[in-house]
Amino acid sequence: MSRSVVAAMIAYTLELRDAQVKLNQNESPFDLPREVKDRVLAKVAEREWNLYPEFECSALREAIAKAYGFSADNILVGNGSNELLAATIATFVGPGTRVALPKPTFALYEKLVTIAGGDVVAIDIDPATGFLPLEAMLAANAEVVIVCSPNNPTGSVLPNGGIEKLLDSGATVLFDRAYGDFALDSLPPLNDRLVTLSTFSKAWGLAALRVGWLATTAATAREIRKVKLPYSLNVISEAIAIAALEDPSIRARNVANAISERNRMFEVMRSIDGVIAFPSAANFIFFKVAEPKRVFEALCDRGILIREYANALRVSVGTPEENDRFLEALLGGADASSAQPRVSAATAAPADEGDRRPS
Ligand code: PMP
Repeated sequence: MSRSVVAAMIAYTLELRDAQVKLNQNESPFDLPREVKDRVLAKVAEREWNLYPEFECSALREAIAKAYGFSADNILVGNGSNELLAATIATFVGPGTRVALPKPTFALYEKLVTIAGGDVVAIDIDPATGFLPLEAMLAANAEVVIVCSPNNPTGSVLPNGGIEKLLDSGATVLFDRAYGDFALDSLPPLNDRLVTLSTFSKAWGLAALRVGWLATTAATAREIRKVKLPYSLNVISEAIAIAALEDPSIRARNVANAISERNRMFEVMRSIDGVIAFPSAANFIFFKVAEPKRVFEALCDRGILIREYANALRVSVGTPEENDRFLEALLGGADASSAQPRVSAATAAPADEGDRRPS
């Protein structure tokens, strides 16, 4: 018999749908150049694959520390930031720990807190403001605060000085900046009660490689390291992440495209009757229409896959051409004011499933 908290949970699902334009997972629309892939793979092929990776992942931790102005003992790397989120939550959250989370946010936080036995205090976001509800998060008096800025899926950001205020409240703060590059953020100063999580999956365009990292004080890193699985990052992913860090233009191109296209899409979406688009500092836009399921299906019908929530939709920023296709479809038959459903919604996941899928 599984534990009761597990038995009561619903597993992540990601419905597979064929789409020519894939704007559902906040991925970068640009792949790593082929010559970079070939160069790194050739180098990794010279290494023995029968031997485990180096225990501490020192080379990548050193490279990240150098790029961001830390020392290697402030950095832990893992199999996507998902793995590090799991290790960090397991380090700080136990039975009865009060954990404040904005709502809606990345579904994995609640799942991991629930598994650890913690109590979730969900704090509603008003996506129209563009900001996370800092005052309400402070008022929650939680021992742990998990905050994603810009937030997935709303794109809202913490007001200036938000991390410092949360730390001043005495809480331990898990700050997920998976989309921080798109807001041109900078990493906050280290603090024993602050863990800042970053990923190579979004602005670096390396989602397939599964590389995430966290920054904190050496003392806190030592605690999380006790919980984290050993050898979770493979030598291929580590080598590619190091190669990417040597070429910051990879990230710069993704960030520049995401920001200019996001702003362009937002202006167009705001002008469409029946579409309420919310301000976003990330590489996606959260929006509402009268019938989200119908609009989702109508877009699918045109080969465009976005993300559906219980009462809203989220579109990732793609290439200019992909975004044009999405905007044309939204402006045309998929607009919210059209009364007639184009296709049956029968194949869609249950509405409440929307919040439980990853990414
Ligand atoms: N944090 C947030 C807010 C995310 O949206 C995602 C992935 N969609 C992650 C973390 C996980 O990223 P990774 O690929 O590094 O596991």
